[in-house]
Amino acid sequence: MTLSHMSRRTMLKAASAAGALAATSRELFAQGTAPRRPAPLPPRREFVIRGATVLTMDPNIADLASGDVHVRDGAIVAVGARLNPRGARAVEGRGMICMPGFVDSHWHLWTSLFRPFVRADVDAVGYFPVSNRLGQLMTPDDSYRSVRLGVAEALSAGVTTVHNWAHNVRSPEHADAELSAMRDLGIRGRFAYGPAQGMPDDQVMDHAGLARVKRDWMPNDGMLTLGICSRNVGAMSIGGGARGVLTIEMVKKDWGGARALGLPITVHTSGPSPVMQLEEAGLLGPDLQLVHPLLTTPEERAILKSRGVSYAMAPTGEARRPSAVGVIQLGEMLEAGVKVSLSTDHTTNYNCDPFVAMRILFALHQHRIGNKVPLTLKRLVQLATLDGAVDLGIADKTGSLTPGKRADIILVRTTDINMTPVGDPYEALVSMAQPGNVDTVIVDGRILRQAGKFAALDHARVVREARDAAMALRDKAKWPT
Ligand SMILES: [Zn+2]
Repeated sequence: MTLSHMSRRTMLKAASAAGALAATSRELFAQGTAPRRPAPLPPRREFVIRGATVLTMDPNIADLASGDVHVRDGAIVAVGARLNPRGARAVEGRGMICMPGFVDSHWHLWTSLFRPFVRADVDAVGYFPVSNRLGQLMTPDDSYRSVRLGVAEALSAGVTTVHNWAHNVRSPEHADAELSAMRDLGIRGRFAYGPAQGMPDDQVMDHAGLARVKRDWMPNDGMLTLGICSRNVGAMSIGGGARGVLTIEMVKKDWGGARALGLPITVHTSGPSPVMQLEEAGLLGPDLQLVHPLLTTPEERAILKSRGVSYAMAPTGEARRPSAVGVIQLGEMLEAGVKVSLSTDHTTNYNCDPFVAMRILFALHQHRIGNKVPLTLKRLVQLATLDGAVDLGIADKTGSLTPGKRADIILVRTTDINMTPVGDPYEALVSMAQPGNVDTVIVDGRILRQAGKFAALDHARVVREARDAAMALRDKAKWPT
């Protein structure tokens, strides 16, 4: 834990608790780290993106083959042809697709450090056993470095909003560390406060800690929102129960405390579907996001639609699961009218690539369903942008290039070898593009990346400190044993 991770109130509390402060100092000393300040975020300037292929994702604003986007005070002021606001500096958009940043609706950022240990083809060191074991050894500083690494990758891939599924909140300092990493890098997002790895299934989640985060961090500057992530419901799941499995009685306690604070809920549905159990218990509602739509029935999908429940897909990981635990039900969800969104899940044995996620979804849809349920490439881009904002309840702020919304915008180069000569821009995004084509990333009007490089973030430091933390965790765990 470094001092820069703390919210002001937490810092004051820590300063008044000499013992806690001493422990923090010991921890810092033991890890050889020193308190540090993050680089300040780039300022919000007034600018006009000029001459780009503009994909608005707003159903009421047409795309432009060559258009401009005017940004001022962190907001989109206008989208149109040949805008000429006085005093605004120009950002070159020619040869680029200008579109809303991706919205990633479910990502366990705290596991980003585990890449050196997780193997996709060796079950004993798969994602669940490694993250469950090492997760229990993580310090707040490990959480900070892991989330910072994940957010840096998100931004590099054009993700401007992330739903941080933080199911390893081991202490107030761990929560503050994760939130600090999100804040320090300037990404928009929801922090889903969770239980800790290894927590007993009959222990109620820490609602006091949740209320403390709400008090200390929300509404912040509008960039971060808060919710909870729940342990699984009612049955063993993929992962052998490593993430916890709750009875309906326990679900009522955990979720009830969150709802009393007005906070939304997210839960995995890996394994047997819990939808009917949740419906019978009266627990479904528009504040609920389910994750991994693999095994739902038509009856369940009708219920989900009527209750306004959303479903986050994570196709890159889901496509690796055995078909016995279900198939990716994008077509079924769209046909039933259930709200859906796109997510990365984790990056321990694949990378963040929203383009590949769209590509996999399209391929699997064509493979299983085809034209029985029409799916356009534009609909996939909507899934990765606006639909994610709808899922997270922030479509008034982001998800489309709409005047009045915050300026969360990316520019994707179309002159790169894998993209050129470009034809239909949606075809290019879904069939051709890769994160390396993302040239410019703007969040809330701040140009965080340009020409494929961070404007302020120290890339080398992020990499070095992530690796150091991973190696220290390995030593602490006496890995491999
Ligand atoms: Zn997940």
